[in-house]
Amino acid sequence: MPAGPAGGTKTKYEFFKVIQKYMDEACTVLDVPEYVRTILSQPKTELIVNFPVRMDDGSIRLFKGYRIQHNNLLGPYKGGMRFHENVTLDDAKALAAMMTIKCALMNLPYGGGKGGIKFNPNSVSRTELQRITRRFFHALGSNIGPETDIPAPDVGTDSRIMAWAMDTYMNSVGQGDKQAVKGVVTGKPVASGGTLGREAATGQGLVHCITEWAEDRNFKLGGATLTVQGFGNVGSNTAAILSKLGVSLIAVGDHTGYLFNPEGFNPYKLQEYVKKNRSIDGYPAGKKISREEFFRIKCDIFAPCALEGQVGVEEATALQTRLVAEGANGPTTPEAEKILLDRGIDILPDTLANSGGVTVSYYEWVQNKRSEQWSLEEVEDKLEKAMKRAYREVADMARDRKCSMRVAAYAVAINRIAQVYSEREIFP
Ligand code: NAD
Repeated sequence: MPAGPAGGTKTKYEFFKVIQKYMDEACTVLDVPEYVRTILSQPKTELIVNFPVRMDDGSIRLFKGYRIQHNNLLGPYKGGMRFHENVTLDDAKALAAMMTIKCALMNLPYGGGKGGIKFNPNSVSRTELQRITRRFFHALGSNIGPETDIPAPDVGTDSRIMAWAMDTYMNSVGQGDKQAVKGVVTGKPVASGGTLGREAATGQGLVHCITEWAEDRNFKLGGATLTVQGFGNVGSNTAAILSKLGVSLIAVGDHTGYLFNPEGFNPYKLQEYVKKNRSIDGYPAGKKISREEFFRIKCDIFAPCALEGQVGVEEATALQTRLVAEGANGPTTPEAEKILLDRGIDILPDTLANSGGVTVSYYEWVQNKRSEQWSLEEVEDKLEKAMKRAYREVADMARDRKCSMRVAAYAVAINRIAQVYSEREIFP
């Protein structure tokens, strides 16, 4: 069976319900006031925009876009924009709630948001993609802004799309404000106000978590093996950075199929190939394998870096690994997580493991505010400290409250949010 949006799960994956349950479990672990649980159970705002775009052949096509603003207690909403044919309101709600958790966990002055457009960006031309992006951001109008809601790249979007988004927003404000609103999106190209280090930040953050885990477990990363599902921004950078630590990428897969090479792939060459060809399809090294075979490969680390719901019961039963390092958001279903943990397989949960992206997005936003450009070294240094601190806090919480790393990550975040609610209380 081809991997659909829910991948391993054969039934519909109710992503938002899953996230609501994690938030609930964390609230129980912490014993926070009931009203905190109630407020976090739903997003503050749900925006749906239907907007027309002129296609290259002259026809007009209607697109559906979403922006979910989950919570802004700690600061402006922050979160990615996804361009994918399976984008749904439910997924955007789940991902926005996860962003609230991630930002609070990383101690960033942001709340959570997420959005996207339901279409396949590979099915349109570059000029169409630009018009779709601009029309969507125009339709969102003042619902976004550098002090309101700050989008970033996610699946199907990249720095080029962020540059168009920023330019569209800039053209909607007065002449005098143009430079002041650069921070309306993050993940921009460096010359257009982006930061050094953002492109690889999510993968780099994941690697910091893996390094901490290896230290905790007395596990030697040099000579270890890795399999990666999803070879886009997160998957490819994770594999490339891990290769510098001596970790060998032996199997890889994306929406077009799976490849196996026991000798190890060169992740940099594969990354170049994917940038040019948009997928791993046709890559000359490695043997083609099925999705089922991919999940049975013996390895030390498995990094799901594609979409949610990819690791279901079957995959969790099949996996022969020590660690599942979640680069993607929501890749493991709750049933699969139970199986993995029962089998003694560790999980670095998404809200912790992939939070390097939003952390460096924050650095970009700060640089935009101050009209500064930090060195790569400065960005990487700050990110390393932030990831290691967060890992420690989550590991300590898991140990103290005897809960999973996932619930612990939610608990560290909700603890911060609950503290602020207790001080500010509810308006009016
Ligand atoms: P991307 O678009 O760059 O790459 C996505 C990858 O997933 C591609 O290789 C694609 O082929 C693959 N894929 C898509 N559908 C698949 C399927 N059905 N089966 C197997 N592979 C499939 O996206 P990205 O930015 O790397 O994001 C990947 C994941 O990481 C998402 O869950 C995203 O929310 C999460 N994430 C991204 C960032 C970031 O900074 N980009 C930050 C945090 C979390």
